[in-house]
Amino acid sequence: MQLLRGIFGLGRFARYIPLPVVAGFTAGIGAIIIIDQLPRAFGLEPPPESHVFSVIQHIMEYMHEINYVSLSLVLFTLVVIHALKKWAPRIPAILPAVVLTAAIVYFFKLDHTSQVALIEPLPSTLPTPAFPKFSAIPLDELLWNAFTVYLLASVETLLSSAAFEKLTNAAKHDPNQELIGQGLGNIAVSIFGGIPVTSVIARSMINARAGAKTRRASIIHSLIILLAVLAISPLINLIPIAALAAVCFSIAFSMLNYREFYWLWLTSRSEAGIYAITFLAIVFVDLLAGIQVGIVAAGLWVLFTAAKTQFHISSSTHDNIIRMSLTGSLTFLSNNEIADLEARLSSATQNEIVIIDLSRVSNLDSSGASALIDLTKSCHARSVPCYIKGLARRFEPLFHTPAGQDILNKYYIVSESELREKHEAIVPISSRGRLIHGVQHFYAERKHDDKRLFEFLAKNQDPHTLFITCSDSRIIPSHMTSSDPGDLFIIRNVGNYIPPFAQDMTFSEAAAIEFALTQLQITDIVVCGHANCGAIRACLNEEPSLQTELNQWIARIRSSLDLTNEKEVNQLAMENVVNQVEHLKLYPVVQTKLAQGALTIHAWFYHIDHGIMYEWNESTKRFESIIDLE
Ligand code: ZN
Repeated sequence: MQLLRGIFGLGRFARYIPLPVVAGFTAGIGAIIIIDQLPRAFGLEPPPESHVFSVIQHIMEYMHEINYVSLSLVLFTLVVIHALKKWAPRIPAILPAVVLTAAIVYFFKLDHTSQVALIEPLPSTLPTPAFPKFSAIPLDELLWNAFTVYLLASVETLLSSAAFEKLTNAAKHDPNQELIGQGLGNIAVSIFGGIPVTSVIARSMINARAGAKTRRASIIHSLIILLAVLAISPLINLIPIAALAAVCFSIAFSMLNYREFYWLWLTSRSEAGIYAITFLAIVFVDLLAGIQVGIVAAGLWVLFTAAKTQFHISSSTHDNIIRMSLTGSLTFLSNNEIADLEARLSSATQNEIVIIDLSRVSNLDSSGASALIDLTKSCHARSVPCYIKGLARRFEPLFHTPAGQDILNKYYIVSESELREKHEAIVPISSRGRLIHGVQHFYAERKHDDKRLFEFLAKNQDPHTLFITCSDSRIIPSHMTSSDPGDLFIIRNVGNYIPPFAQDMTFSEAAAIEFALTQLQITDIVVCGHANCGAIRACLNEEPSLQTELNQWIARIRSSLDLTNEKEVNQLAMENVVNQVEHLKLYPVVQTKLAQGALTIHAWFYHIDHGIMYEWNESTKRFESIIDLE
C-alpha cells in the first residue's frame, strides 16, 4: 500500500496537514518520549503499557523501588550533554556523554553495587529470512490490520519528515520517495520477521543533532548496528539505560518547544487551540487520534474563518437609497448575517430603494444565493424596490432558478445610473449619496489592509510613470494598469492633448510635465488614448462658429490631425496619441532627458469594450496588443 501510494504520487497529500497540527504532533511525541522514559530514568522496570496513565500508576506503585543512583546518572548525562552543547558546540554532545556515563558505571561497578540497569545483551546472530504465511490469518482481518498499520506508519513517516524539515531547516523531502522507501523497507523487514518500520522523529533528531547531514548517516547507523550485533555486543552491553534515557530526554525537551506554542498564541488564539487539542489527544489518547482531532479542528476553523461574511452597510440620509456592500464569503454559514440584514431592511419604506453590491463577494454558494433571493423578494413583498449589482459571472448559474432568474431579469443593475430611468419620479437620486457611500466603503476596506501603504504614502510620493490620458470617465488608469496609490502621476484632459511647447505658455500640462521630470525623476511617460473618444468625434464635426473654451480646445486637437481623408474615430484617436508623443518631444525638459537616455515615451490605445491595451510599435508603425507581449 505504501509502495503503491508513493508510485502513484499521492504522498503530497500529507502536505495538506496544517502547521499547528504538525507542531502539536511534534510536541506531543516529545511528551510521549518523556513519559515513556520516566520509569527507565527512575531505574524501574518498564510498565506493561506505555500509556500516560499506566506509566504514572506504575511509578506511584513502585515509588519505594526508585533507584536514586540511576536518577543521578540521568541528570549527570543531561548536564554533560547540555554543557558540551553550550561550550563545545562543534563536538557531537551525545556520544561523549554516553561513553562518560558508561565509564563511570564500569569503574565504580555501579551495576553491581547500586543495581544500575544496563542494556540487555544483544542477540549475536541475524534472523533467517522466510516468506510470510498469508494463510495464518483470515484475509479480511489481515487486510484491515494491514490498512491500520499502513495508515499509522505513513502518517507518522510523513509527519515526522515534515516536522524534521521544520526543526532542522533540512532540504525538502520528497513524500513519494519516502513512501516508496518505507514500503520496500517494510516488505524486507517482514521477510526477516521484524515489526513494521516508520520514520521516527526522535531518532532522526538524535541523528541530526549528532551532526548527520546526508543519507550516509542512516547507512552508517545501520552498519554500526550490524557491527554491534556481530562484534561489539559485549561493549554495547556496558551502556547504562539511564544514559540512553537522558539522551531521549534532551531530544524530547527540544521537541516540546514551548516557544512555538507561545508564538502561535500571540498570532492566533484559534491556531494555538488546534495545537493544544492535537498535543493533548496525542498524549492522552494516541497518535492517530491526535492527528485526526487536529485536522478536523483545523478544517472547521478554516471553514468558519473563510466563510465569515463582512458587510459594509451604508444607509445614508443624503438620498433615499440604502446601499449595502457585501464583502467576503456568502455561504450556508452566513445565514445568521443575512437574517441580521433582513432585520435591518425591515424598516425600509416604499420611498426608499435598496441596492446590494456583490462585487466584493469572493465566494457564493446556493444557500447564499437563495438567501439573497429571499431577501430581495421580502423587500419586493413590502413594495420596497431592491436591486442587486456587481454579481460575478461565475456565480450567475446559482440564480438559474425561476425566482433567481426573475431577479436577474428585472432587478439586476450594472450601474446605479440605470436607476435614473426607473425611479427618478419616485426617488430623488443624488450623486452625493453615491460618493459618500463609496468613501465610507473605501475607508472600511482600506484602513486595515493597506495601512502600511498609506502610512508610507503619507510621507512621500515616488511614482514611476507620468500617465497622460483623456478625462473620459470610462478610463481609470490605476485600474487598467493594476497600479497602487503612489504609482502613477496623472495628467488628464479632454482628448489627452499636449499643447506644443511655446515660450511663456501657461498650460497646466506644461507645469505637470516639468514637475514630473525635474522633481519626481519619472523615467517613463505614457500617452494613452481610447476608443470612442468624444473629443476626437467632435473633431470630425464642422468647425463651430461659437468660440467657447471647449470649442477652442477641440480646435487645437483638430489642428494636429490629418483630416484630408475620411477616417474612423478610433483611427483618428490612435493618430492623435502618436501626435502627442511628438508634441512632448518639443519640450526642452523632455529633450534633455531623452538625450541623457533617462526617459522613454510610450503611445498607448485602450479599447473599452474588450479591455485590451495596445502599444505603438515605432518599427512596424502599428498599434500592437500589450496582452500578448512576452
Ligand atoms: Zn476621450
